[in-house]
Amino acid sequence: MTVLDSLIAELKGVCAGLPDRRKGPRRDGEYTMADIGLSAFAVFFMGSPSFLGHQRALAEGHGRSNCQTLFGMTAIPTDAYIRQMLDGAPPGAFDPLFFQAAGTDGVLAPFQRLNGRVLIALDGTECFCSRKIHCPRCSTRKRSDGGTEYFHSFLGASIVAPGHRQVLPLPAEFIAPQDGAEKQDCERNAAKRWLARHGPAVHQLRPVFLGDDLFACQPIAAAVQQQGGNFIFTCKPASHQTITEYLTGADWRNIANPPSHAASAPQRSTDGSPGCRCAPPTTR
Ligand SMILES: [Zn+2]
Repeated sequence: MTVLDSLIAELKGVCAGLPDRRKGPRRDGEYTMADIGLSAFAVFFMGSPSFLGHQRALAEGHGRSNCQTLFGMTAIPTDAYIRQMLDGAPPGAFDPLFFQAAGTDGVLAPFQRLNGRVLIALDGTECFCSRKIHCPRCSTRKRSDGGTEYFHSFLGASIVAPGHRQVLPLPAEFIAPQDGAEKQDCERNAAKRWLARHGPAVHQLRPVFLGDDLFACQPIAAAVQQQGGNFIFTCKPASHQTITEYLTGADWRNIANPPSHAASAPQRSTDGSPGCRCAPPTTR
């Protein structure tokens, strides 16, 4: 059995275990949950630009044999039926598959950088937006014209490597109203949940988390370190004034009358951090 075969077999097993909302005894010829789940997966696997386009291609005979051969599907349900059956299925059921794929022999080696470490990029993205259609799991925002926009977004996590064209996706964390939370959910909260939920699973990879300016804040840095990871976050001067001043503050040598004990060049403090240039270097 090839690696792909075994991963698809695992996926089929997870799909077969998804909650089946149909009542009563099973009837002959009824789609199995495995068929339904694999049909949805096939849309992405085959690189179809849309669910409907995929269904049309199948109806015309294109790709049908691929789906049947690759996924061992006996029947292909309609997109409406797939949506009806999968809506509400817990996405977390698929989480172990991501780690299984990444843990397959030889998969991670080409991604290792910085002396065998693994880079995990975190970033938020929006997957739905409407002013009319909404659900209880929508986030909302006010627009300048007074209208309300409803949207869905999630925090994506992927193993990446410079010079490597592929990425290895890890489970996503959805940004959605949380039980008991007073404020609307956000990308940073999703990142904290991701780290708490999946940090132990990636700990042995010695992860270095990558993120944009939004993540460059104390709570996220602490959450990463709590899981034994390190981070490289973008830190824009405009949104990190104190750090910027720390790094590039006024040069004390430009002060008209520097204290007589000051050295002629900037020094580092004994703890290794650059001395603040606003003041004479520490004499500790
Ligand atoms: Zn919604």
